Amino acid sequence: MNFPIQEIWIDTEAADASLTKNIVRKFPQAKVIETDQKNASRLMRELELAADPFSRGKKILRLIRHRGVFVKPCPGTPEYVCCGLKILHVGQGCPMDCRYCALQAYFNRPVLELFVNVEDLFSDLTQYLKQNGDTFQRLCTGEFTDSLALDNLTGLAPRLVEFFASVPNASLEIKTKTDAIDPLLDVDPKGRVIMAFSVNARGITRRDELRAAPLQKRLEAALRTQKKGYLLAFHFDPIVPLQGWYEEYSSTVDSIFRTVDSSRIAWISLGVLRFVAGLKEVAEARFGKIPYFHDGFLRGLDGKCRLHADRRIEVYSRVADRIRRHAPDARIYLCMESPHVWKKSLGIDMQHDRDLEAYLNSALQKEVRPNQGGTSCKKFLPEPHLKNF
Ligand code: SF4
Repeated sequence: MNFPIQEIWIDTEAADASLTKNIVRKFPQAKVIETDQKNASRLMRELELAADPFSRGKKILRLIRHRGVFVKPCPGTPEYVCCGLKILHVGQGCPMDCRYCALQAYFNRPVLELFVNVEDLFSDLTQYLKQNGDTFQRLCTGEFTDSLALDNLTGLAPRLVEFFASVPNASLEIKTKTDAIDPLLDVDPKGRVIMAFSVNARGITRRDELRAAPLQKRLEAALRTQKKGYLLAFHFDPIVPLQGWYEEYSSTVDSIFRTVDSSRIAWISLGVLRFVAGLKEVAEARFGKIPYFHDGFLRGLDGKCRLHADRRIEVYSRVADRIRRHAPDARIYLCMESPHVWKKSLGIDMQHDRDLEAYLNSALQKEVRPNQGGTSCKKFLPEPHLKNF
């Protein structure tokens, strides 16, 4: 997939990197601007004052050296059960443009940023895995960007697959809405890499996921990677329960199971639309009125706008039922939900982060069983009263 890049900003410190030179060569038409700290801030301020900084920023590529750590915990919240995923930070911003995208409300730098000090990433990653050698680590590259949308520029994903294929205590999840998987097909993942596709109701993929691959293309890409030894994952996130949602999501579920071998699906996550206050305004300023942001949202325990727990439970139970019709033992999990919602919708006692970690790790390590290691999935919290769990 090629996305239009009109400008490339190169930070002084990144100018000599070989990756920088390779990337610049790929965009002979782009305006190249070398930036130090001062004029990068000025350019950013000018961009913020543009009519739609996000649309403009998606055509600007900024090449920098990342100075912080490359491995970070996923930004979960203590109020809900978190899966303990670690983020491998490869860059931020995304050239696709989903109307509901949370990044619109998170970043004050609306450009696409790629880190050119890839060798630092590998040494940070090696160090991290060494320091945490006694526990199994699940890492993912697709949190602050799409894992593959800009990978044709960096060639990082196949290198990471090779790296993780030889690591005993970790797995990598590559998460995408593209079908740009060709470079991954020549690398043997050795059961350590999960190719994850974000999926949705077809209507949402067409209307709301601008420049992403059509659903059928994602599923075909899933099949091709599965045939090459990758485990698969599917993320239904965000589920948007508009009128007719059940039929639409059922159709997507059925298409998945018609296309791929269900025994090679590591997990399927479900997450009903939730968002930080402020996203609605940013998104509607860009796209006009978006009906699903005007549903009955309440503040959740994490301060985000969430639908009432009873509605989320209904959505999760019905989608999970549909999945289980095809694969009764499917490892379904909820993204950032309470033990109450877990129990009521999936019938699973999921009390703690470590329970969920063990549940997902068991997909990758045959010897690890959910709830091992002193976890306490048997307990269950009292029924909630007034709070929107
Ligand atoms: S693909 Fe993901 S990161 Fe990219 S715009 Fe859509 S939601 Fe945002």
